[in-house]
Amino acid sequence: MQGTNGSSPRCIALMGIIGKQVYCSIYEKRASVCRDFQPAWLKGEPNERCDKARLQWGLSVLTPEVWNQPDNFPKAA
Ligand code: SF4
Repeated sequence: MQGTNGSSPRCIALMGIIGKQVYCSIYEKRASVCRDFQPAWLKGEPNERCDKARLQWGLSVLTPEVWNQPDNFPKAA
């Protein structure tokens, strides 16, 4: 979880440009806290921490409709 305590928090395993295209460079070995984190509305429930993280990077919060429109998939954070 290095990188999350800095002034501009960002996991050092996150590669790419936030808001454009990103991926986890340790996806198969990521911690349980990452495995358990669900993006807002992916499984029909809100996630305030997801909303907070997206807003912090200037992204709009996810809505239930986002997951029903494949062409409208959210930008990953
Ligand atoms: S899934 Fe976890 S380890 Fe991977 S980029 Fe996101 S916060 Fe970092």
